[in-house]
Amino acid sequence: MYAGAMPDLPGAWRRTAQGAGLLSPDGVAAPTVFAEMTALAHRTGAINLGQGFPDEDGPTEVLDAARAAISAGENQYAPGRGVPTLLEAISAHQHRFYGVALDPAREVLVTAGATEALAATILALIDSPEDEVVVFEPYYDAYAACVALAGARLVTVPLRFPDFQPDLGDLARAVTDRTRLILVNDPHNPTGAVFSAEVRAEIVRLAERRDALIVTDEVYEHLVFGAPHTPIATLPGAAERTLSISSGGKTFSATGWKIGWVTGPAPLVDAVLTVKQFLTYVNGTPFQHAIAAGLALPDAFFTGIADTLRSKRDLLGDGLRAAGFDVSDPAGTYFTVADAAPLLAEGEDAADFCRGLPERAGVVAIPLTAFASPANRSEYTSLVRFAACKRVEVIAEASARLARLASAG
Ligand code: PMP
Ligand code: GLN
Repeated sequence: MYAGAMPDLPGAWRRTAQGAGLLSPDGVAAPTVFAEMTALAHRTGAINLGQGFPDEDGPTEVLDAARAAISAGENQYAPGRGVPTLLEAISAHQHRFYGVALDPAREVLVTAGATEALAATILALIDSPEDEVVVFEPYYDAYAACVALAGARLVTVPLRFPDFQPDLGDLARAVTDRTRLILVNDPHNPTGAVFSAEVRAEIVRLAERRDALIVTDEVYEHLVFGAPHTPIATLPGAAERTLSISSGGKTFSATGWKIGWVTGPAPLVDAVLTVKQFLTYVNGTPFQHAIAAGLALPDAFFTGIADTLRSKRDLLGDGLRAAGFDVSDPAGTYFTVADAAPLLAEGEDAADFCRGLPERAGVVAIPLTAFASPANRSEYTSLVRFAACKRVEVIAEASARLARLASAG
């Protein structure tokens, strides 16, 4: 979030900080914006619409399955690729929802959340400091940090308010012979965009033309409000060059469990495993069993969570509009981006606005600049991300507080 003076840090940290702007003004590595905002909410007692985590538990079947696995003694290291029941459940899930056939023993890998999947994938697939990773900006904070840790170059394609679809010309210019990976987060955090079929097809076409690999982050795959999610790996020509990443955190409202996965061609999955085994080795054995139970829940569960979140999105959107924001209605994810320009004081930007919001309105939200590289922040200076994954009464109370803020001038 901050671009500050460079302390004398060892190499990897220095690259991370330079690449991702992760230094506080006094020159120390800062906590992530999510940790910072949640700490701010705790300190001020404000409603936390900042960090994206639900304030209710997920399905009882999944919680019970975790308890049952612990009671059954599933408490030691899992096999390196993941417990076989989960590998099979991931493979069956990909087939049930997307028609993708995967060999659970060779084409699936369980990771410590999508975060480790992203880190291990990027570290495994980057070859040289000349390699470029194309990402859509604003982007989830871990992307720039992992690309910097891997010693590669980040190339950004801008997404602009209010529809946040990339311009195809910008995309084509970003993908070159230096592009090693195109990292696609669809549905997209922080904007809530779901990429159009045209954009997805263009990503595949450019990757084929430049012989780049595609890495997808699909953690919000079941939280879409229109047509069902389409994984890029299902497009013609994509499967052989795509690693797909997801996790159980969002789908089962269990963000603290950190069970994620990578699927794709066996040699690429093997490459990710070679790195992953030295990051965490393995994790969360009983939770792996529980997420396997979750992935086998009936279709009605998956449509139900999207319906519930859609009504929360609508409630939040109405509240933000009533408070005077311009709102981009998201097509998926936990998040809604609003333009605070009508509410900003002279000379104030969204970062100032968010810093003052807990005191002024008792609400925490995140400025979109926190998801952009320092050089590109000027594109997003009046935009704010609000999380809708909270109880209805919490969203209603936050909306009422924001409306009072607006009427107080
Ligand atoms: N990618 C995106 C786009 C996210 O929003 C998040 C946050 N949960 C993650 C990855 C990390 O997922 P996990 O908690 O499974 O590591
Ligand atoms: N994905 C969550 C968000 O965007 C936060 C995850 C984290 O704190 N690393 O708010």
